[in-house]
Amino acid sequence: MRVAVVGAGIVGVSTAEWLRRDGHEVSLIDRTRPGEPGQASFGNAGVLAASSVVPVSVPGLVWKLPGYLLSRDAPLHLHWGSLARSMPWLLHFLWNGRRTKVEQVAKALAPLIGDTVEQHLALARGTNAASFVRSANYTAIYRNRAAFRKDAFVFGLRRSLGGEWDEWDCATLNAHEPELSGAYAFAASFRDHGFISSPAGYVAALAEHFEREGGRFLTGEAVDIVPCESGGAAVTLAGGAREHADRVVLAAGVWSAGLARRLGYKTAMVAERGYHVMLSGASYMPRGPIMVADAKTSVTPMADGLRFAGTVEVAPVNAPPSRAPVQALRRTVRRVFPRLSWQSETTWMGQRPSTVDSLPLIGPLPDAPAVLFAFGSQHVGMTMGPRMGRLIADLVAMRRPNIDLHPYRVDRFNRG
Ligand SMILES: Cc1cc2nc3c(=O)[nH]c(=O)nc-3n(C[C@H](O)[C@H](O)[C@H](O)COP(=O)(O)OP(=O)(O)OC[C@H]3O[C@@H](n4cnc5c(N)ncnc54)[C@H](O)[C@@H]3O)c2cc1C
Repeated sequence: MRVAVVGAGIVGVSTAEWLRRDGHEVSLIDRTRPGEPGQASFGNAGVLAASSVVPVSVPGLVWKLPGYLLSRDAPLHLHWGSLARSMPWLLHFLWNGRRTKVEQVAKALAPLIGDTVEQHLALARGTNAASFVRSANYTAIYRNRAAFRKDAFVFGLRRSLGGEWDEWDCATLNAHEPELSGAYAFAASFRDHGFISSPAGYVAALAEHFEREGGRFLTGEAVDIVPCESGGAAVTLAGGAREHADRVVLAAGVWSAGLARRLGYKTAMVAERGYHVMLSGASYMPRGPIMVADAKTSVTPMADGLRFAGTVEVAPVNAPPSRAPVQALRRTVRRVFPRLSWQSETTWMGQRPSTVDSLPLIGPLPDAPAVLFAFGSQHVGMTMGPRMGRLIADLVAMRRPNIDLHPYRVDRFNRG
C-alpha cells in the first residue's frame, strides 16, 4: 500500500519505519527535519520509563496546587495569560486524578510502555540509531524515606502492574552517586530501564535509515487530511500540493489536534510544556537517569552533556517560552549536585501532546478507516513511540494487535 505519515517525531518516524519494513511504499511528511528543536522528541529527558504507568494527575494533586502556585520551585507552572482558556482542560484533568480513574489509566498505559527497551532495540537494530539505546537503572531520589512513603499510592500501583525497585538508604545511594547532595538520603531504583543518549540524534538516525532503505521524506506542512470516497485519503500541503495514499497516519504530536478537528474529531489535548537545561562539559555524570522526586525533574547523562528536564506548564501551542521554569531547573541543578561545574549551558522548551485522560489516541477513524491517529503520548512519548508505531503497522496490515486498543479509541472525546 501507499502510506503517508504526517509528523516525523519519535512516533511518526517509528510508525514510518515499521510500515516500511512491512513492504509498504511510505512517505513521511514534516515541515522540519527529524531531530530538530521544534519537536517534543528533540529535547526530552530520553528516559525509557517502563514503570511510569501513573499519570501526572493523581489523588491529592488538587490539594497540592495552592502550595505549587506559591513556590517558585514547584514542578507546575501556570501560564497566567491563557489561564481562562486552559481552565476547562485543567479541571477535567484534575477530576481524572481520582483513584479509580488513575487505576484504569495506569492499566491502559502499562502495555504501551512496559517493554519499551525491547521495543527500541527491535526498532533500532541494524541502524545507526542502535548506539543511542542504553540500558540503565532509573532512580527516583527522595529527601528521606518519609517523603518516599508519601508516594505510596503511585508505587503501589506500579507494583500491582509488575514494577519492581530496590530501596536504597543514604549510604547505598551515596555509593552509586557520590556527587549527589546529602539532602537526598533515600532512593527507589528501578532495574531494567534505559534511556536514549541523544533523543534528537536518535530520531534523526532512524529517519536517515528509513530514507536509505527506500522510504521517502517530504518537507511540507500538512494543512488538511481528506478521506476519499473511492477509498484512501489525501494530505493537502501548504502551497496546494496533494499527497494521495491508501492510508494516512496523523502523528503530528500536539499539532495533531487542529488536523483532527478538521476531520471532525475532538482530542481533548493541550500543549503540556516542559523545559530542559543542558550542561555541556559537566564535571560529573550519574550512572543512569535520575528522577528528583520533589522537583519532578529528570537528570539524564546524555552523550553531549548532563540534561535536567521537567516542569509542567499548560499554555497555547507555540506561545513563547517562559523564564520561570528554566530558573527553577537551574536551582534544581544546584540543589541536587552542589559541587557540579560545567562549560556551557543551553535551554529548550518542548510541547508534550497531553490528553485530558493521559492516554494516546491510536487507531483508524470509525467513519474514515483510511485515516489513523497516533498521538497523545504525554510525558512518555519517547518511551512508547516505537510501540505506537508497531501497533499502527499491525492495524494497516490487518494483523490483530496483541493488546486491547479500546482504551485508546480515537472517538472517545466525541462521545461527550
Ligand atoms: C521536557 C520534556 C521531557 C520529556 N521527557 C521524556 C522522557 O524522559 N521520556 C519519555 O518517554 N518522554 C518524555 N517526554 C515526552 C516526549 O518528548 C513526547 O511525548 C514525544 O516526543 C512526542 O512525540 P511525537 O512524535 O508525538 O511529537 P513531536 O516530537 O512533537 O513531533 C511532531 C512532529 O510533527 C510535525 N508537524 C506538526 N504539525 C505538522 C503539520 N501540519 N505538517 C507537517 N508536520 C507537522 C512537527 O514538525 C514535529 O516534527 C518529555 C517531554 C518534554 C517536553
